[in-house]
Amino acid sequence: MGGNSDMKLIDENGIRIDGRKVDELRPIKIEAGVLKSADGSAYVEIGKNKVLAAVYGPRECHPRHMQNPAKAIVQCKYNMISFSVSDRKRPGPDRRSVEISKLISEAMEYVVFTENYPRTSIDVYIEVLQANAGTRCAGLTAAAVALADAGIPMKDIVPAVAVGKVNDQVVLDLNKEEDNYGQADLPIAMIPRTGEVLLMQMDGHLTQAEFDKALEMGVKACHEIYELQKDALRRRYAIVNGETEEEPKEPAEDVNEEA
Ligand code: UDP
Repeated sequence: MGGNSDMKLIDENGIRIDGRKVDELRPIKIEAGVLKSADGSAYVEIGKNKVLAAVYGPRECHPRHMQNPAKAIVQCKYNMISFSVSDRKRPGPDRRSVEISKLISEAMEYVVFTENYPRTSIDVYIEVLQANAGTRCAGLTAAAVALADAGIPMKDIVPAVAVGKVNDQVVLDLNKEEDNYGQADLPIAMIPRTGEVLLMQMDGHLTQAEFDKALEMGVKACHEIYELQKDALRRRYAIVNGETEEEPKEPAEDVNEEA
């Protein structure tokens, strides 16, 4: 967030550098059940962001002192792979990834019916393969689909998107240049069914009127992403008109495996 409002990121026709209008999302692709080894998984592309999420559990929580006798704990680990950004990212956790992991864990713990699984841990691994701003939102969007794919009961599926301010205009779904040189960044995640806001952060400054506009834009976009998340799960389980046409496919036999 450079706050450099001199850099022209929106032209006189209201078109952004990637050709979008101010209230337009980047192209989104969501796929559920992409990994055979995980209990649930999802792959999400939002513009140039590419994110993979894998869920393991509910499984016995180790170390045992972290167990909660009344409910499960949800542990999300957000990681940006070294080659996900143009300057090689040093592998391993840093302050940013620890912060993002914590806020995604808290958001997910709120939506999962954790009381169904006492003493267990639900582990969600989020790997950012390619980053172009908005990766915490793409990661959360993927994690929610992966949890649903794992069959874990939740209040709802959670979509997330960032809204911000660029060249004094409120814009939806910031790309890298807008994130770096814009004036504000406001990631939002919500529970569409209840309208509850699960995550909200703000970098930069917005007036009350800009904030209200940004929130309205973000909520509308979250509902669009929510439909794509549900479509991905329907495709995964081939659900047509509410009926399951085919069961999820078993992993194919490994031809190299000893008989
Ligand atoms: N970024 C980077 N190197 C880093 C961290 C971030 O190049 O170590 C880039 C990356 O493209 C990321 C963007 O900066 O998506 C914005 O990062 P931010 O911390 O705002 O989180 P995000 O918008 O991805 O949720």
